[in-house]
Amino acid sequence: MRIYERMQHELNSLESNGNLRHLPQINHQSSWVTINGDEMINLSSNDYLGLACREEFKEEFLATLTNSNFLPTSSSSRLLTGNYSIYNKIEHQLASLFDTESALVFNSGYHANIGILPAVCTSNTLILADKLVHASLIDGIRLSAAKCIRYKHNDYRQLERLIDQHQADYAEIIIVTESIFSMDGDECDLKRLIALKALYPNILLYIDEAHAFGVRGNKGLGLAEEHGCINDIDFLVGTFGKAMASTGAYIVCKQIVREYLINKMRSLIFTTALPPITLSWTSFLLEKLPSLNNERTRLQSISHLLQEALKEKGYKCTSTSHIIPMIVGESSLAIYVAKNLQRKGFYALPVRPPTVPEGTSRIRFSLSADISHTQIEQLIRVIPTFDEIIQTH
Ligand SMILES: *Cc1c(COP(=O)(O)O)cnc(C)c1O
Repeated sequence: MRIYERMQHELNSLESNGNLRHLPQINHQSSWVTINGDEMINLSSNDYLGLACREEFKEEFLATLTNSNFLPTSSSSRLLTGNYSIYNKIEHQLASLFDTESALVFNSGYHANIGILPAVCTSNTLILADKLVHASLIDGIRLSAAKCIRYKHNDYRQLERLIDQHQADYAEIIIVTESIFSMDGDECDLKRLIALKALYPNILLYIDEAHAFGVRGNKGLGLAEEHGCINDIDFLVGTFGKAMASTGAYIVCKQIVREYLINKMRSLIFTTALPPITLSWTSFLLEKLPSLNNERTRLQSISHLLQEALKEKGYKCTSTSHIIPMIVGESSLAIYVAKNLQRKGFYALPVRPPTVPEGTSRIRFSLSADISHTQIEQLIRVIPTFDEIIQTH
């Protein structure tokens, strides 16, 4: 069969470029992982607040469970019989935390991002998206009828030019960005985006807070909370699979947007709703979220330590968050450096094209509040300088 030959050919070429992926076998022990018998500190998890391994939370939650409230499936879409009361509870909880008109929960961030834009856009919509937005947003844009132009990462001058140029030709423009970016750990400029939006009658903002929710803001609601601009954002999206140690996603928005999505959003309508037990766990943790400022402070402090150390060692580091890339260039080099760190007990992973642009392969550190200062200092000691890395290759 031709198709298998083509597949083999492509897999071979991925392998020769150092870009072949596989599913690793991993055993988890709180913030440690064991792979092939080697125990390492997990520096690649999205459990930013360390809640996934928090024994007392698990115990407290388990104590609330009974045969009748342990519901492991919703057995249906929310529009049919899957809309258990916990859905209403959590959506009220979110709307009240964020102080917005309403909230809507989805099965995952991927479901949210591939569903919202196709539901709300027409061919009369222009999407202006940051060049580095997450694949799920790209897929959502592709599924929508909108015209899309990508602007250079965080280049708001270019964004302004694009708005000026096209604003009159479309019914509305939706600016799409992440708040903290997945691969560089830097931030969008929310204040500036909101100021820009205020200059025109027909601009809306879509902000994905997947990496900021839980971690930033006084109540942990994200960058929009930190900057006091939650209500200036039209589509404020976040996920529960990262800092929230659960699964699922949300939008907080106007009531009309919620109602519209319930009627039009295919990845909400045509899928089995998350199990009620999952929502109960999310709701339980949402209640704790505002009180977790110690965890947030600890995370910021170790992140700062690593950012500064990387800069000192000659790496270009624009991260202002707990996601900290160590950019080395070639894929093979990233793999080599990651292997070395793993041999020394630090489970850090290489990130390569197509996830990041060619020539910017990197080790991506993704820190958790569970990691101690001492462990970060040990890590810093074994990280080679940029010059050393280039010379060994
Ligand atoms: C992880 C992530 C998603 C996807 O969320 P899931 O709940 O894992 O599907 C969406 N957007 C961004 C920016 C992410 O980092």
